[in-house]
Amino acid sequence: MAVLPIRRFPDPVLKQKAKRVREIDKAMQKLINDMFETMQYARGVGLAAPQIGIGLRLCVIQIPETEEKLVLVNPEIVKRKGSRVVEEGCLSVPGYIGELNRSESVMVKYLDREGKSCRLKGEELLAQALEHEIDHLDGILYLERLESPEKLRELKPEEESTEKSTEMKSEKETVEV
Ligand code: ZN
Repeated sequence: MAVLPIRRFPDPVLKQKAKRVREIDKAMQKLINDMFETMQYARGVGLAAPQIGIGLRLCVIQIPETEEKLVLVNPEIVKRKGSRVVEEGCLSVPGYIGELNRSESVMVKYLDREGKSCRLKGEELLAQALEHEIDHLDGILYLERLESPEKLRELKPEEESTEKSTEMKSEKETVEV
């Protein structure tokens, strides 16, 4: 396994719409393993393939509370419910967090790493992670979802050391995706 360099804003790959995965082959399995290792090394809760420069519809998520390793190939949000204000960061935009609206829950359909068709309902932090990562596959950063530029702030150095652990942050917990 390998830790891969994470692309940072304004790298153009982060603005591109990723392509559907056609085949989950051996190389794809290695890529998935590398993505988990990269995410864990960066102490994020999620990582999308475009963040490591690969324009494919693939992301991984691991929420601290459950520790379950989720692999989502060609994910699609089929239902969204509710709205809540969250604080969010991104491994591709280090040192900043923003305040924005995310759904309270989402229903996602996707293929797992064996190519099996799955459905998953995510709430709160998992819903936020799913929306954030699937946005990456459409070339959208959370920066574009802020109501105004004032909703973005720079992390203070002491915050950064504790909040590094999250590619995303929900209200009280500290998480980054
Ligand atoms: Zn991100």
